[in-house]
Order: sequence, then C-alpha cells, then structure tokens
Amino acid sequence: MMNDWDVIVVGAGPAGIKAGEELAKRRLKTLVIDRKQEIGAPKRCGEGLSDRWVTVSGLKPDPTWARQYINGAILISPKGKKIVIDSEKMGRTGYIIERKMFEKFLAANAIRAGAKFLLKTNVEDLVMEDGFVKGVVANNMGDTLELRSKVVVAADGVDSRIGRMAGLNTLLPLAEMDSGFQYEMAGVDLLDPHKMELYFGKSVAPRGYVWVFPKGEDVANVGVGISGTDEKTAREYLDRWLENNKRFENASIIEVNAGGIPVTKPVDEFVGNGILLTGDAARMVNPIHGGGMGTALEAGGMLADVIKEAIEENNVSKEKLKKFQDIWMEKHGKEFANVLKVRHFFEKLNDEQLEAIADIVVKGKISPDVFVELSHGQGLGKIAKGIIKSSPSIAKLIFEFIKR
Ligand SMILES: Cc1cc2nc3c(=O)[nH]c(=O)nc-3n(C[C@H](O)[C@H](O)[C@H](O)COP(=O)(O)OP(=O)(O)OC[C@H]3O[C@@H](n4cnc5c(N)ncnc54)[C@H](O)[C@@H]3O)c2cc1C
Repeated sequence: MMNDWDVIVVGAGPAGIKAGEELAKRRLKTLVIDRKQEIGAPKRCGEGLSDRWVTVSGLKPDPTWARQYINGAILISPKGKKIVIDSEKMGRTGYIIERKMFEKFLAANAIRAGAKFLLKTNVEDLVMEDGFVKGVVANNMGDTLELRSKVVVAADGVDSRIGRMAGLNTLLPLAEMDSGFQYEMAGVDLLDPHKMELYFGKSVAPRGYVWVFPKGEDVANVGVGISGTDEKTAREYLDRWLENNKRFENASIIEVNAGGIPVTKPVDEFVGNGILLTGDAARMVNPIHGGGMGTALEAGGMLADVIKEAIEENNVSKEKLKKFQDIWMEKHGKEFANVLKVRHFFEKLNDEQLEAIADIVVKGKISPDVFVELSHGQGLGKIAKGIIKSSPSIAKLIFEFIKR
C-alpha cells in the first residue's frame, strides 16, 4: 500500500465514493477507505433518489441500480385521507434504487477515474502535525497502517468520529436525530407501484412517517422514522403499523435495515486544517424527509474543486478549505434552514390539525403540490391562506410561525 496520498477519504458511502471519483478526475492521488467488507452493504436507506440528484451527479439511470421509476407520492392522513401528488407533471420524478448496486456502480466509476479503495479497514485515529491533519491511522484486518495525505475527507456518515478527532464539533443531540427502521418486503399489495406511500399521524410515527417505497410490482421498502428520543423503538411502531394493516397480510420480510438519520442543521464548521467533512458527517440531510444521498453526491464535485486549488497553492489551511463550506451553504444553507423551520412547525401539530390540513387539499382548496414545496422549505403561507376560513386557528399558528 502506497503511503503518500494527496487525499484520503474516510468512508465509502455515496459522499465518500463520489468525492473519490471527483478528486481522482482532478488528477489527485486519492484513497477511499471503509471499514465495511463490501461497498453498499448493509444498506441503511429507503433508497429513494430524485432525478435531480442523478443529473447533478452526472449519471444516467442505469438498470443495474435504478430499480423502480417513481412518478409521485400518495400521502395518507391520520384518518386515512389520500393525497396524490403527480410529480411527473412537476418535472420531479425519481427512482427507488438498489443501493448496494448503486454504490458499487459509483465505486467502479471512481476506480476508472483513478481512485483506489481499501476495505475492511477501520480508521482509528488521525495523524496530526503542527495543528494540521496529515493522514490517518487505520486497522486493516489486524494490521495497523499509518497512511499520510495532504488532506483527509471525513465522509464517515451519521456516527462520524473523524471530525471530532480533528477537534470539530460534530455533537448530534439525540433530539436532532431520527431513528429509522425498515423491512424490505415482498408480496406487498401496493397502492400504485410507481408512487411512494407516506403515512402520517402521532400514533403511526410521532415526528416522522411510515414509508412504503416500491421496488417492483409487489416488492417495497417499508420503513418508519421517528424521533430518537421516543420511548418506543422505531421497530415497535413499524411492527404495530404492519399488524394493523391488512394490505400487508401476505407480505414477508427479505431484508432488515436500521439506522440513524440526522434531521438537523449542518455542523457549524465543516472544515479544519487539512480536513473537511461531507455527507451525513456534515449533516447535509434534508431535515424534513431525511434524504441525504443526493446532497452527499453533489458535494463531491464541490469539495474536489476546493481541495485541488488548495493543494496546488500548497495551502490546506482551514481558511482555504472553508471555501467548500461557503459554496455548500450558499447553495443549500437557506433552503435547509427553512426546511427545518417547516419541520418544527409540523412537529407541533396534533392529528386533528394535520387532518384539517389534509382536508383543504382533498377539497381542492390548495394543490397537493404544496407538499413538495414544504420539502423545500416553502408553502406554509399557501396552507395558511387555504385554511383561513375552515380553521382560522391553524392559519394564525402558521402566520405567527412565519413571522419568527
Ligand atoms: C432508515 C434510513 C432510510 C433512509 N432513506 C433514505 C432515502 O430514501 N433517500 C436518501 O437520499 N437518503 C436516505 N437515508 C439517508 C442516507 O442513507 C444518508 O444520507 C447517506 O447514506 C449519506 O451518505 P454518506 O456517504 O454521507 O454516509 P454513509 O452512507 O453512512 O457512509 C459512511 C461510510 O463511512 C464508513 N465509516 C464510518 N466510520 C469509519 C471509520 N472510522 N473507518 C472507515 N470507515 C468508516 C461506514 O462504514 C460507511 O460506509 C436514509 C437513512 C436511513 C438510516
């Protein structure tokens, strides 16, 4: 194993693999390390990926991983009202992917670009010199390796420890974390095999939702995300929901997945001397639906440009690398702050209030498209105007909230 890299990327999830590819494309000697023995497995994901991110990542949907075309969603209120969103007409389609294949596909692209991968290798420490990160100390199947680099990219996911080792504050309070639990199931009676189903309600999933993401005519990821502070586990909510749902009577489990989802704002500092954080490690996750693959992929190109310039100028200081944070925040900072605000608003609503909002959409007073806007941090004003006659108290709540 060569011991002198331009960049070492810790973590071969979507963030780390794409960073590896983009860095290698810029002719930087890049090593991507992961503690897993297989890229893409185990998956911790509902596997929903919008077309927007496929395009931004310079990819074309490939049958090896683009498993099911998705043209919309069906939202189900606590009392069972169905709101159908036709996202095709909005130009916002997507896929439920086969993530294991997707990550291997991405990794093959990165390797073709010149990146090297080292698996079954746990990064245990950083090499620090004169206040700069200069590499990593890793355990490769029992052997200790000290690998040196000009820059380290921490793409080590939601439970990131690398940033903290470099002195960055990556503390994630439990209340800002969602706990996700999912079964991939076959024999599922889907409402529409090309639409995601999302179920809301305090007893269904407090602060979150149950999702059914189709992966075929009768195969789906069926999962739930709830607050990390809930007394009950996500699994308890999902099992109870499935028991109460006759449509799943003939379904059975083909895979079990679980994991944490950071539904909070990005970390205050993505960068330090010789190090930067990306993907879930930097909390680049949409805090309303918990999707983080897209932004993780997109960040690869952004950080590679910044690192290339920093290395060429022989200046990998925090000040220089901060350009990555500035670019990312410029693109997503305001939107994600608004999304977080929308989420905090919806958290406060009880089932009756959620039902009242569903009611005005079902009665055609506002378009179902408003729910897509909400996931981008907008649309609360539209709901307030639509609901002002039927539920003035909710409209008042929204107006007060918007003013804050
Ligand atoms: C239940 C659930 C459902 C989800 N559904 C969706 C969805 O439908 N759509 C979506 O876009 N997002 C979804 N997400 C979120 C999405 O999975 C993450 O946002 C995404 O994986 C972030 O990519 P990443 O590369 O930053 O981190 P990860 O994919 O977590 O990759 C981090 C990698 O770092 C490695 N690593 C960590 N520490 C070390 C170390 N010390 N040494 C070596 N390797 C290390 C890990 O093994 C891992 O491979 C979901 C998450 C969960 C938990």
